[in-house]
Amino acid sequence: MNQFDQLKKIIESNNNFLITAHVNPDADAICSELALYLVLKKLGKKARIVNHSYTPYNLEFLDEEIVIERYDEIIHENIFNDADVMMLLDLNQANRVVRMENGLRSFQKTKVCIDHHQDPEKFYDLFIGGTEYSSTGEVLYDFIKSTNIIELDYPIAYQIYTAIMTDTGSFRFERTSPKIHRIIAELLEFGLNPTEIYNKVYDQFHFSRIKLLGEALNSIELDSTKKIAIMTLPNEVQQKHNAVEADVDGFVNYCLSIHSVQIGILLYELKDGVKVSFRSKGSIAVNKLASEFGGGGHSNASGARFFNIKIDDIINEVITAAKKYINEKE
Ligand code: 5GP
Ligand code: MN
Repeated sequence: MNQFDQLKKIIESNNNFLITAHVNPDADAICSELALYLVLKKLGKKARIVNHSYTPYNLEFLDEEIVIERYDEIIHENIFNDADVMMLLDLNQANRVVRMENGLRSFQKTKVCIDHHQDPEKFYDLFIGGTEYSSTGEVLYDFIKSTNIIELDYPIAYQIYTAIMTDTGSFRFERTSPKIHRIIAELLEFGLNPTEIYNKVYDQFHFSRIKLLGEALNSIELDSTKKIAIMTLPNEVQQKHNAVEADVDGFVNYCLSIHSVQIGILLYELKDGVKVSFRSKGSIAVNKLASEFGGGGHSNASGARFFNIKIDDIINEVITAAKKYINEKE
């Protein structure tokens, strides 16, 4: 039996599903959760979506029925006991669910991971996906089509479309294949409005985000080789603009818009540490760079988190590590 059929069997033979995704979820994470939730509901199953983080404010429109819950140790005391199956979406390392990690690790029943990142940690019973996929949403599409578990409909098509659109950088990243465009064509047949979806995701931010972007762009510095660009956002700057983590999404990509730059780095101070985002051009594998700091991700987009540390404590170490990945010839 292939993995898709195995997942179909797991779904058909269980009743209670707990769905979760990674900390600071992006649109692929949220949309995949909602798409899977809709599939399970269509089959008459019980399902809950519980995340470590709040849904970023610009993505709240996706959760129209407000079914996504934020994990609370007291309110959600029984969720792990109640569930027959845990579905981990858009992540492949157990620490990506942060406060839910203990519950995940001690979960004795079936754990399913649906993902498309590199270097999975084997904490699951069944894995579906792989790095050939553009997005977790695309994996779900293949699962639905290959098993015919349900008929696609407008609400599910909407979530899968948005997952693929966002994780392909609006159909421009490497894994934007002919297959992706064929999937998108089929999804559009349900009557989706691409202009409206794009505007809802990318054109509804707070005014303060643009001010913060100004500060972030101003902070960019190049290393001595001019091949590494470093953007920094310390706490004081964020506070000045009342920024939240969702506001910073996409900023690091500006580093790569500089001609000579091969690796872009964003150091973003959190209350309890620093989040690092890495981006690269071509064959430079920044998932390996991130893994030096306990993080991971994709070849051209990765990240890591440091705890109880400020930007100044780690910036030099991060740049030194990044230099090893630079392509000298170009
Ligand atoms: P971003 O920089 O946009 O937050 O993340 C880029 C990519 O790196 C995403 O695919 C994300 O899943 C991955 N990533 C970001 N932070 C971490 C981290 O702390 N650990 C791991 N394993 N992956 C991360
Ligand atoms: Mn994804």
